[in-house]
Amino acid sequence: MEQVITLHRPAPRGEKFAPGIPGHNKVELQLFTTLNCNLKCSYCSAAVGDVLHSQGHVEYTPNQLDRFIDTHLKGYDVYVTFYGGEPVMNRGFIEEIMQRHPQFRFQLQTNGTLIDNLPPVVLGKFANVLISVDGGEAITDHFRGRGVYKQVVKNLGRVRPHLGGSATARMTWSSPDTTFEEIDELLTHFDYIYWQFMQAEGGYDAAGMEKKKTVLRQLVARFFASTQTLYPVIPLMGIVRNKVRPDILEREHGGFSQCRVSTHIINVLPDGRIYPCPDMAWAPELQQGDLRENWLTQSPLQPRPEMPCHDCSAFGFCRYNCMKNLYRGYVHGDADYRVNVVEPICELVRFLGEEIDRHNPADWYAKASASVREQIEGCPVYEYVEIMP
Ligand code: SF4
Ligand code: SF4
Repeated sequence: MEQVITLHRPAPRGEKFAPGIPGHNKVELQLFTTLNCNLKCSYCSAAVGDVLHSQGHVEYTPNQLDRFIDTHLKGYDVYVTFYGGEPVMNRGFIEEIMQRHPQFRFQLQTNGTLIDNLPPVVLGKFANVLISVDGGEAITDHFRGRGVYKQVVKNLGRVRPHLGGSATARMTWSSPDTTFEEIDELLTHFDYIYWQFMQAEGGYDAAGMEKKKTVLRQLVARFFASTQTLYPVIPLMGIVRNKVRPDILEREHGGFSQCRVSTHIINVLPDGRIYPCPDMAWAPELQQGDLRENWLTQSPLQPRPEMPCHDCSAFGFCRYNCMKNLYRGYVHGDADYRVNVVEPICELVRFLGEEIDRHNPADWYAKASASVREQIEGCPVYEYVEIMP
């Protein structure tokens, strides 16, 4: 299963793009509509390497995009995510793509502060909307700016009746002070929660780790409290699915990272360059295509022998959680990042797996209602997020 590609070389233009999973027919086309943003979140990954604000507008034409789709994505089940910066700042581009390609599925990844500028006809075409938060009001406003949380909740209430699909809270979990209650509260506004552990201000020191483990323990206990009603928290659903239905994990991801960066997601920057991970546009050796030049290859961001995953007890359900973290920590050799970010996150992932095992997921799954099992096996939001935390 392991595929090793030599890095630090220009991407080979001759290797035709293919998802790399037998029988797989899906491609996520993540289009950065702009790299400008109306907020100034303190940790913004797009700011790494001065990527943020470097490309205000889409520099390729709709015809160039059509030619690219026709050349490389014909025959695939394509789903488009509009990404940024803040993608709603380029509403005209979103509308144009929806008109030209009505056969695609659409998702929006937004900070939520401008989403009410979108007309109902556009909102109605989103199969899922991912709205970024950092937890509850105090922590979200700490990272994103005063009043942001309330504005997001208000805007979501306004657009809700027009949304074509689900609303998912995309929670960056960095603070050591995030509580179970504030995560739980998000479910009064959203259909699902997806969280991802992030680099943190002191969040991974011993005290911060203990606090996160306490909250994880509460989340897992809440998840297993009912077999008749689903607790819609994607990383818990996904890990349980991987444990009780490893056949689905194999079918959907074939042993590669569940965030799809090694297989079937492509990120197109406003200037047309293409990368496998939206957070790694600062690493030129990972470029896998160019929309204006009309070329696309396999993802260069592949499992590597330096990565510790095959000896890890979590590998069966985790599968290279975040390839960016592994690449930065073990391939680029950023020792500080490895020790202070990657290793603590891996410890939390292993802890989460053990905590889930303590609740006997196979027994729970056997008792679960048909609708709960159906969501665990095939929740549509799995396709729109990284699944693992
Ligand atoms: S927990 Fe870390 S080391 Fe283990 S499989 Fe996941 S990413 Fe790899
Ligand atoms: S989880 Fe995947 S897509 Fe997200 S930052 Fe990591 S490598 Fe990139």
